[in-house]
Amino acid sequence: MGKMIYADYNATAPMRPEAQRALLAALELGAANPSSVHRAGRAARAAVETARAQIGGAIGSRAADIVFTSGGTESLALAIQGAVLALAGKATLIVSAIEHEAAGKAAGHAGVPVETAYVGADGRVDLDDLGARLTGWDADRKGTPILVLMLANNETGILQPVAEAAALVRGAGGLTVCDAVQAFGKVQVNAALLGVDYIALSAHKIGGPQGVGALWHRAGAPLKALQYGGGQERGLRSGTENVAGIAGFGAAAEAAVRDLPTYAALAKPRDAMEARLKAEGGVVVIGEGSPRLAGTSNFARAGFRAETQVMALDLAGVCVSAGSACSSGKVKRSLVLMAMGADDAVAESAIRASFGWDTKPGDFERLADAWLEAARRTVLKETA
Ligand code: PLP
Repeated sequence: MGKMIYADYNATAPMRPEAQRALLAALELGAANPSSVHRAGRAARAAVETARAQIGGAIGSRAADIVFTSGGTESLALAIQGAVLALAGKATLIVSAIEHEAAGKAAGHAGVPVETAYVGADGRVDLDDLGARLTGWDADRKGTPILVLMLANNETGILQPVAEAAALVRGAGGLTVCDAVQAFGKVQVNAALLGVDYIALSAHKIGGPQGVGALWHRAGAPLKALQYGGGQERGLRSGTENVAGIAGFGAAAEAAVRDLPTYAALAKPRDAMEARLKAEGGVVVIGEGSPRLAGTSNFARAGFRAETQVMALDLAGVCVSAGSACSSGKVKRSLVLMAMGADDAVAESAIRASFGWDTKPGDFERLADAWLEAARRTVLKETA
């Protein structure tokens, strides 16, 4: 077996050297609380503020509108539940059918009604459905509409029409929370162009450390803290900052934005891999006709269970993930694919390969070789 091929960047990306260097440099500052006024504290504060400027720069926003958190999950909870709190519960959440659980469950626990925004077979939120929902919105009865919509889906990589959706919501006097965790560092994310009110980001998906993220919020957007204490992060997220993690995140963000063209270039070998898997392996590619992340490939081969594929690839030294998860021997179908109207056979046999900054040109070919070999031993043999 040759070198391992890591094709699970959407789960977590390997840490970029720039992030490692910044993280280590911050650790070497030694004992320092960024709230302390002595020189050690000031150095830690400087590391945090450098990162804040880097994140702000990466999304075209003011550094002051960035709040550091422990990751994407916390950023989404803060945005969704913090907005509902600030509106004193006079709100209705509209959550797209393909959101990550971090958004869906934060909404479910926000204590206000939740509606689902449908997606089409193309994997994109249905703007007609959303528009119809918002037309004649009864704010007296339903409060402020708050849309929760991701920019790129973690399973399929399909990009959502966030700017258009946010414009509809704004027109109805509402707010939009955008989960840009998977899109950031892969496509341009610009706060002003998106026209949203909150953007959730996570470091570990872009080659930063795990356990750190950020929430951008439009100046003046309603937002209340969920936890109280020392008043850090302008009172929006009390708790001593994860200085080294934040420094690593800032450096990773800067590097990821610099490398956006390199990421976009992954589409070509990704498409070639998919073409081969279709021709030789009979797979269907999910979201093929939709705009999607260059480094994500979600494909299915009816009859070849996702877990079997993941295990066979693992034995061949290739790390991918199943769109569906296995619990107590039963195949749990991908809710994202089900929301797109995929049939059971597709939803049970879809796997996700995702690539990124350290992907080598030969990785796509090797993944295809390993997949086809496994398929020939199993499903292709049966149907031959
Ligand atoms: N949102 C999306 C789309 C994700 O893919 C993830 C990670 O799995 C999250 C949110 C959660 O981010 P984190 O792992 O930083 O909490």
